[in-house]
Amino acid sequence: MRVIRTTNELRHALKPIRHDGKKIALIPTMGALHAGHMSLVKMAHNLAECVVTSIFVNPKQFGPSEDLASYPRPEIEDLAKLSMQNVDIVYMPSVDEMYGAGFSTSISITGVSEGLCGGKRAGHFDGVALVVTKLLLQTMPDIAIFGEKDYQQLLVIKRLVSDLNIPVEIVAAPIHREKDQLAMSSRNIYLTPEERKIAPCLYQQLQHIAGHIATDGIGNLEKLIAVSTDYLQEKGFNHIDYIELRDSNLQTITSSTRSARLLAAAFLGKCRLIDNVPVILK
Ligand code: AMP
Repeated sequence: MRVIRTTNELRHALKPIRHDGKKIALIPTMGALHAGHMSLVKMAHNLAECVVTSIFVNPKQFGPSEDLASYPRPEIEDLAKLSMQNVDIVYMPSVDEMYGAGFSTSISITGVSEGLCGGKRAGHFDGVALVVTKLLLQTMPDIAIFGEKDYQQLLVIKRLVSDLNIPVEIVAAPIHREKDQLAMSSRNIYLTPEERKIAPCLYQQLQHIAGHIATDGIGNLEKLIAVSTDYLQEKGFNHIDYIELRDSNLQTITSSTRSARLLAAAFLGKCRLIDNVPVILK
């Protein structure tokens, strides 16, 4: 496994691989790797001959009051995990390498980035779009894998790649969960032991609402969401950012929608949990 820290070196390393006609897969991450990230690596090995994982805590996607400074950066452990999974290249650029002196470019995405997490985290998806564009142009992979855990992010990136004609196939990976169904996340380490026990309630409530919608339709949706919001707050969640039903492209539900997503974000102590489940409408 090669650890590469500059764009020049990355391009140099990938040139012969591309020349040999080998397929390259990119998995962008912010490190603090867990089994969810590893499920993306395994998927990449099935789809490509060369697996590149990037680790970059992107300052441009954090708001001023968010956890950029305290975001976990366990570099040695991350490299050991990637090496165990036979990753070919780990790309770990510095902030300076990505956004050097005079950096002046931004990318703004409307539509799919509005509402949900985009409504609560101003500028977040613009920061994501910028870093993903750079990582794709630096790596020029055949495929790039993103998790459905960050469902809105996945759709933002699909939009970005389509709008800018970036020649890469975006592949979606299912959500990898703990035994108690909590969606794995690098931020789960912020949970206290008490909060960790409560955390799976978010997924349970999504499933509960999804089950009702699947059998009874969306007539009672507002009430179901209100009851779940109260329940989660009683359980100890300090703030529910949103629980919302959209169609699977994150458009507003209409009478013809069949395939939908129920998405949620909620604070439990210092930790902002996000999750989503598919919902089939009759
Ligand atoms: P992050 O390091 O949190 O930026 O995540 C890097 C990539 O891993 C993103 O595409 C995430 O959607 C994906 N990911 C994170 N957690 C999970 C999970 N529990 N299951 C599947 N994919 C995940």
